[in-house]
Amino acid sequence: MMSRRRLDSRSGLPAGLLGDIQTPISPEPLESLYDVTGELGRGKFAVVKRCVEKTTGKVFAAKFLRKRRRGRDCRAEVVHEMAVLELARNNPRVVNLHAAHETDHDLVLILEYAAGGEIFDLCVSEELLPEAQITRLIRQTLEGVHHLHQTNLVHLDLKPQNILLTNLSPPGDIKIVDFGLARRLGGSGELREIIGTPEYVAPEILNYEPITTATDLWSVGVIAYMLVTGESPFAGDDKQETYLNVSQVNVDYSRESFTRVSELSVDFIRKLLVKAPEDRPNAAECLSHPWLWNQQLYLSPDPVMPRPLRERSCGTKWSAQLDDREDKENFLESLHSHAKRSRLEEEAPAAGDIDV
Ligand code: ADP
Ligand code: MG
Repeated sequence: MMSRRRLDSRSGLPAGLLGDIQTPISPEPLESLYDVTGELGRGKFAVVKRCVEKTTGKVFAAKFLRKRRRGRDCRAEVVHEMAVLELARNNPRVVNLHAAHETDHDLVLILEYAAGGEIFDLCVSEELLPEAQITRLIRQTLEGVHHLHQTNLVHLDLKPQNILLTNLSPPGDIKIVDFGLARRLGGSGELREIIGTPEYVAPEILNYEPITTATDLWSVGVIAYMLVTGESPFAGDDKQETYLNVSQVNVDYSRESFTRVSELSVDFIRKLLVKAPEDRPNAAECLSHPWLWNQQLYLSPDPVMPRPLRERSCGTKWSAQLDDREDKENFLESLHSHAKRSRLEEEAPAAGDIDV
């Protein structure tokens, strides 16, 4: 993961980074307020540890972000990650930022604890999730992404390692984490040159073409594919092969694992793994795809879809299938009003620009 560095002449920040934060950064050592226990995960520049707040006994996840990386000061990047989390504060599908601390080496974000771990583990587990659970997790992911996009935020590193669960068994709700590569769209200048993780990046990123909200929708397609099949759709033997698979949209829809789910899943994934970003449905449109509201998944104990649904074609205009499942909440209503709005917004020239 890396982002190329270019300084913005006005703010002095690397292009596209946010600098405004409200959460106070405490200089007090973490250990005075929390008992730091085991490690939850780690990346190139961060370690995440489980910690317990001494006064309340509440569990949190402390993300220790190194301020110096590759020999240069990256504090601005870390503050940016905080700023994005604050902008996403009212998004129930995004992990909540509780507090922040700073040491000589690290900025430590105290985050809401997602006890169920990564949905990555569900993708690689021996036993794949039932389809009704997969569609529930994808719906929640899309709700989170829709909410982010409404705030003009793009995540740009959506992958099964960055989608966590509040509970493992039974699977709880999803929480999106890791906003290190997230950016705010709008303003002047285009956003290009952000590199995510090879297996999950969209073709426009490889081609240094403008990045838009559609870039996240590609990743949702990859995540759906992985939850359904347990396989990463573009992973090659090496990076070059992976990039080639992505840029040629070389996807295998004939895997045996697709026979255990409805054909609507393939239709859904096919519509997202499309090379031209403008041809991908947005998050709101995805949320009305019939796969995600397929009542048969709940009614039938048999994971194999009954015949009539297999034969129903799914045109470009998706018809939302309403049922009275909890997850639907009031979402569809706000969705439809937003879909109308976003169609209007799409005509504005600023879409896809980055605030510099
Ligand atoms: P990185 O930028 O290094 O990828 P992440 O924010 O993705 O850092 O965190 C790394 C890993 O730590 C995640 O993939 C997850 O396994 C774990 N983790 C991160 N945040 C939490 C959290 N709030 N609750 C539980 N585990 C977490
Ligand atoms: Mg991560």
